[in-house]
Amino acid sequence: MPRNIYSEDHEAFRASVREFVERTLEPRAEEMIREHVIPRDIWQEAGKQGFLGLDIPEELGGAGAGDYRFNAVFAEEVSGFTAAVSSCFGIHADVCPPYIVDLGTEEQKQRWLPGIASGELICSIGMTEPSGGSDLAALKTTAVRDGEDWVINGSKTFITNGHQCDLAIVAVRTDPSKGAKGITLFVLEAGTEGFTKGNKLDKVGQVESDTSELFFDNVRVPDANRLGPEGQGFIAMMQRLPQERIGAAVSNVAHAAKILEETIEYTKERKAFGQAIGSFQHNKFKLAELVTRIEVTQAYVDDCVAAHAEGRLTPVDAAKAKWFSAQVQNDVLDECVQLYGGYGFMNEYRVARAWRDARVTKIWAGSNEIMKELIGRDLGL
Ligand SMILES: Cc1cc2nc3c(=O)[nH]c(=O)nc-3n(C[C@H](O)[C@H](O)[C@H](O)COP(=O)(O)OP(=O)(O)OC[C@H]3O[C@@H](n4cnc5c(N)ncnc54)[C@H](O)[C@@H]3O)c2cc1C
Repeated sequence: MPRNIYSEDHEAFRASVREFVERTLEPRAEEMIREHVIPRDIWQEAGKQGFLGLDIPEELGGAGAGDYRFNAVFAEEVSGFTAAVSSCFGIHADVCPPYIVDLGTEEQKQRWLPGIASGELICSIGMTEPSGGSDLAALKTTAVRDGEDWVINGSKTFITNGHQCDLAIVAVRTDPSKGAKGITLFVLEAGTEGFTKGNKLDKVGQVESDTSELFFDNVRVPDANRLGPEGQGFIAMMQRLPQERIGAAVSNVAHAAKILEETIEYTKERKAFGQAIGSFQHNKFKLAELVTRIEVTQAYVDDCVAAHAEGRLTPVDAAKAKWFSAQVQNDVLDECVQLYGGYGFMNEYRVARAWRDARVTKIWAGSNEIMKELIGRDLGL
C-alpha cells in the first residue's frame, strides 16, 4: 500500500538524509562500532545539514520545521543504517530540544539551542536512576536550595549520549514530601564541578551508541539552570514522552523494514536443495507474513505521525504504537536471523547486529509492560 503522509517536500528531505547516511555514516560504520560513540565531526556535519534543529526556531539556528513528519523521515533513514545511531540523534534532536524550546527562558534558549542545532553541544536526558526507571515519580536524586543556587546529589544510569554529552537535562527531586509534584528539571553542563560521567556501558547491542552513568556529587548550579517551574518536572516529562515514543515507533518499523528488505534479497540468492531458499513454501509464506506485519504496523505508526504533526496524538495512542512496533520489530528480526541460517548469527552480518540492537526497544522509553499499563488505565481498568 502506498504511504500517504509524506509530500514531495518530505521526499526531497528524505533524499538529503539518505545522501548523508551514504556519504557520512556508512563509511564510518566500523569506527562507530569500535569506539562506541558517534564522532564529533559527524554530529557537526549532521548539524550543518540542518538535521539536528528541526524542532528549534530559525532565529536560534534551527530549521523551525514545525512539521513532525520531517523528524520522522530523519529517524526512518538513519534507523535503516543502524538503530543505535538513530537513538543517539533521536535523543539529541527529537527528545531534548522541545524541553528547552517550550520551558526555557529567553536566556536559556539563546545559550543552548544554537549549539544543539549545530551539533556543537551534544545533549542527553537523564530520567532513569540505578534504583529504577519505570517508576519515574520515585526518583531519588535531590536538589536542595542554597541561596541563589541549587546543590544536586545522586546519579542517573543508562543515559544515551551520556559519556559524550555537553548538556544533560536531568530530573531531580526538589521536594521530598510531594512525590511526582516534587520533581524539577535542570540543565547540567559538562565540566561543572561534581558532575562526572561513568564509563561507556558494555551493552549486548546498539554498540555504536554511548550509554553511561552520570554522577552528581554536590553539583552547585545557579537557579538559571532550572528548566521550567519548580515541581513541574514530572508533568513536563509526561507531556513530552509521547514524542519520544512515537519517534521510537518510527525507528522500530523502519529498522525492521530495512533488514527485512535485505533478507528478502538474500533468500532469492541463497540456494539449498538446488533452489532459492525463499522459494520453499514455508519461507515464502513466512516472508509474506513478515511483510504484512510490517506494512500493517507502518500504517498505524504513520497515522500517529500524522496526528502528532497536527498536535492530536494522545499519550495512549503513542503507547500503543511504541509497544506494538517494538514487538513486531523483534519478531520480524528473529525470523530474518532464521532465514540467514548460521550467517544470521555472525556479527559481520547486519541482520545479526540488528537482531541484538532491537532487543532494547521493548525496554527503553517506557517498557512494553508500562505501555500496556497506560493503555489498560485508559480502558478504565
Ligand atoms: C540502551 C539504553 C538506553 C537508555 N537511554 C536512556 C536515556 O537516554 N535516558 C533515560 O532516562 N533512560 C534511558 N534508558 C533507561 C530505560 O528507559 C529504562 O531501562 C526503562 O525505563 C526501565 O527501567 P529499569 O531498567 O529501571 O527497569 P525497572 O523499572 O526496574 O523494571 C524492570 C522490569 O519490571 C517491569 N515493571 C516495572 N513496573 C511494572 C509494572 N507496574 N507492571 C508490570 N511490569 C513492571 C518492567 O517492565 C521491566 O520489565 C536507557 C536504557 C537502555 C538499556
